[in-house]
Amino acid sequence: MIEKVYPGIFQIKIKLPNNPLKELNSYLIKGDDKSLLIDTGFNREECKEDLFEALKELDIDLDKLDVFITHLHADHSGNVSEFIKTSPKIYTSETDGKMINDMVIDQHWKDMEKDMLLCGLGIDNVKYTDHPAYKFRLSEPVDFTFLREGDYLKVGAYNFKVISTPGHTPGQIGLYEEEHKLYFSGDHILDIITPNIAFWSVESEDLKTYIKELDKMKELEIDYIFPAHRNIMTDHPRRAIEIKEHHFERIEEVYNLLKEEPQTVRDIAAKMTWRIRANDWSEFPPAQKWFASGEALSHLEYLHGEGKAKKILEDDLLKYSI
Ligand SMILES: [Zn+2]
Repeated sequence: MIEKVYPGIFQIKIKLPNNPLKELNSYLIKGDDKSLLIDTGFNREECKEDLFEALKELDIDLDKLDVFITHLHADHSGNVSEFIKTSPKIYTSETDGKMINDMVIDQHWKDMEKDMLLCGLGIDNVKYTDHPAYKFRLSEPVDFTFLREGDYLKVGAYNFKVISTPGHTPGQIGLYEEEHKLYFSGDHILDIITPNIAFWSVESEDLKTYIKELDKMKELEIDYIFPAHRNIMTDHPRRAIEIKEHHFERIEEVYNLLKEEPQTVRDIAAKMTWRIRANDWSEFPPAQKWFASGEALSHLEYLHGEGKAKKILEDDLLKYSI
């Protein structure tokens, strides 16, 4: 489904089957000599169909289409290999670009599984092969052109400035159009749902970084935020405050679950409240157990960073206590 959301800018809805995110919003910025596609959907047939039918309908010449990937997640980067042969440039940040290409290698996933086991998910028998990001990752590595904060991309009537917003992933970037006050945010700021802050290493400061980056966003003059999921936003300072409050409530919830006796990340995750159609932890699908533990870990690490939680390594398990 295509919707014109601004002169020369089209939103392409790509369905994400069996995924709570429901859809990805890709964007196509149409220019005379070249166009730009922002994000691509999972590497699965349903997403490919939605994406390529839209590009055809919009009469896009793939030889003149550059691609911009906001961040490494497979619902954004999954189909990027499809553009290797045709697109002059495929952009992303160096940090996420290297991780996107690592996703092709099984060893990368085995290393991530080790972190999962450290968090206590071994008893749930969660496997990396269950993860949607493994199943629907890109098919071959891409020779990315890396962008950093302050770089510019000119497309059609627009001149986009690259803004770096780490937190949701270590190297997420967005595109800011100062004159028209537009911002393509990827998953940095979303309406209705809260961007997941997962774990990239068990020593992460991702949540602290993320909260800091939300404050940076408030300083930009923006009329329209074009996010990668759900609704377009016109009041981003309000939403940034809501998301921050959500995380502070979450931090408090996690703090209240801490005991003197050390508990695994998985044990904390299982006790947190989740908006999911499952009666209890045992009914969570494997991938959701992984995401939930990542979310728990980022909040536990935040508390540890503030000196409010202790952590120890006991029997090859990472455990937190008061
Ligand atoms: Zn994401």
